Amino acid sequence: MEKEITTSSEEIELYEDNFETTDSIDVPELLIDQIIGQEHAVEVVKKAASQRRHVMMIGSPGTGKSLLAKAMAELLPKEELQDIMAYPNPEDSNNPKIRSVPAGKGREIVMAHKLEAQKKVQSRNMLMMILVFGIIIYSFYVGQLLWGIIAAIMILLLTRQFLPKEEMMIPKLIVSNYQKEHAPFLDATGTHAGALLGDVRHDPFQSGGLETPAHDRVESGDIHKSHKGVLFLDEINTLSLESQQSMLTALQEKEYPITGQSERSSGALVKTEPVPCDFIMVAAGNLDAVEKMHPALRSRIKGYGYELFMRDSMEDTPENRKSLVRFVAQEVLRDGHLPPFDKEAVDEVIREAQRRAGRKGHLTLKLRDLGGLVRVAGDIAHSEDAAVTTAKHVLAAKKMARSIEQQLADSYLERKNDYQLFKKTGSAVGRVNGLAVMGGDSGIVLPIMAGVTPSLSNSEGRVIATGMLKDIAKEAVQNVSAVIKNVTGKSIPNHDIHIQFIGTYEGVEGDSASISIATAVISALENIPIDQSVAMTGSLSVRGDVLPIGGATYKIEAAARAGIKKVIIPKSNEADVLIEEAYKDKIEIVPVTNIIEVIEHSLVDGPDKDRIVEKLKSLTSLKTSAEMPE
Ligand code: ADP
Repeated sequence: MEKEITTSSEEIELYEDNFETTDSIDVPELLIDQIIGQEHAVEVVKKAASQRRHVMMIGSPGTGKSLLAKAMAELLPKEELQDIMAYPNPEDSNNPKIRSVPAGKGREIVMAHKLEAQKKVQSRNMLMMILVFGIIIYSFYVGQLLWGIIAAIMILLLTRQFLPKEEMMIPKLIVSNYQKEHAPFLDATGTHAGALLGDVRHDPFQSGGLETPAHDRVESGDIHKSHKGVLFLDEINTLSLESQQSMLTALQEKEYPITGQSERSSGALVKTEPVPCDFIMVAAGNLDAVEKMHPALRSRIKGYGYELFMRDSMEDTPENRKSLVRFVAQEVLRDGHLPPFDKEAVDEVIREAQRRAGRKGHLTLKLRDLGGLVRVAGDIAHSEDAAVTTAKHVLAAKKMARSIEQQLADSYLERKNDYQLFKKTGSAVGRVNGLAVMGGDSGIVLPIMAGVTPSLSNSEGRVIATGMLKDIAKEAVQNVSAVIKNVTGKSIPNHDIHIQFIGTYEGVEGDSASISIATAVISALENIPIDQSVAMTGSLSVRGDVLPIGGATYKIEAAARAGIKKVIIPKSNEADVLIEEAYKDKIEIVPVTNIIEVIEHSLVDGPDKDRIVEKLKSLTSLKTSAEMPE
């Protein structure tokens, strides 16, 4: 079904800027000026570039870390660039010599050597020819032609074997900066040790005149290619400890010899003189990466550089919206094949940036994903031969560009529907439709069941949770039992409470299911049914306050897709909700502040419910939002 494009008057005024298409938007030339929303990072990178300091960037994927590193390389002086060459070492052929020369010179030197070698070979060949012909003619005259020919062949073979081979003496250019416009930028993410630290190729012919000389088999690594430039390493913790150790040495010494990385090859015999590698390291990753990286490497960066935190979102101001307009223009320009976006199309992208921020009054800075949307929309327009990309294309792209997690969520939904894993009508005791997010941008309905059984051990009841819970979810279960004791006043020494998360093949993380668990348990303990057309999400304090959670928009949309009629969310998340037009009429959103309201909105009406609500009200010191002054 084609969705109607609705733009309310308030939304049209996203920013006071009028343009026909993104073609008329100026895109700055320098990469550093193209970076959006990371002003602090930009400042630090500028400073680090001028002082040649290392930088560590922590943040979500797609927030501009590698772009910043590339921008940093643009800021470095290209006058300092050098070419690096490997020369044969007459004293020890397994220890090639290393020389560096100004950028561009390396190529000239190699050419000159080649020319010289060619000349030498030519004149030698000439001499040989004269000699050979001389011998043959002489032997002919003295009547010993056969011996003459044999002698000529012997001379040819011997000189081939023993005369120095000029081509073997030509140096090898292992790092070239010929006609480079900027200092080098190398992304060494996920490269193996050989590519990172350099390698020496194996030589299958190690003698007999066919061998390749050692210096000619030397290959520089990314650490050498980024000499005087920037080496970017994402997910630094995935680098082997040995490689991290070698990186540390390279950082300290600013030079690192090249040796064969594969132990059994002939390359392993070769080790060059130290090769310069005076690069700026930009290491990146998420917080986990920092914790798991080699501590000495971390402290090296800390001691000699800057640590940066990348932001996930920026405030939703007219200024920042304008930056997003420029972002769309930048992405269109970078791709080169997309038709420019008109204003409505850009507005639609900005609206998506608001949605994806998942925080009230913010715009997402996970711009790689947003750029993906821009490209898909542009591709659709391109395939239709449209001259401009319009809002219609962006809306179509939104439908198409669903992440793997979203597609997985769809398939869960189908499967759960098939097996009747969740109900959306009627009522049930101890059964709640909880909500969760997968992969950061797709919601799923997560049914939770609670049951109460007589305790197996006499002394105390236990809370037993099943369904692949991860740590935070386990803690949430523990907290909930404290709340239940608090709010129901029921100490449960003789009962075990079983909580089961249903259909959670991928494991449950987070504590946003705590109000669902609490409701299921209260329902099971008090034997009051829960309305199954309701779904809920919210975190719970020990006192019974409902606390904010993440991904509200995606969770609500998932509930609506599953056919749920009412969704309970924390009041503090109310402003984060930016659901798509298509879902607005399908679902009622009920913001709540404490567990009493959750119970009021989810248990089936009746005297039992009234009793428990009254009891809860008298037991807790909380007031419902209706009783709270505005
Ligand atoms: P990361 O290294 O953090 O994973 P990248 O730097 O590779 O992310 O970003 C991928 C792409 O997304 C960039 O090439 C650029 O097109 C866009 N992008 C990401 N962050 C920004 C930003 N802050 N400003 C402008 N464009 C960005």
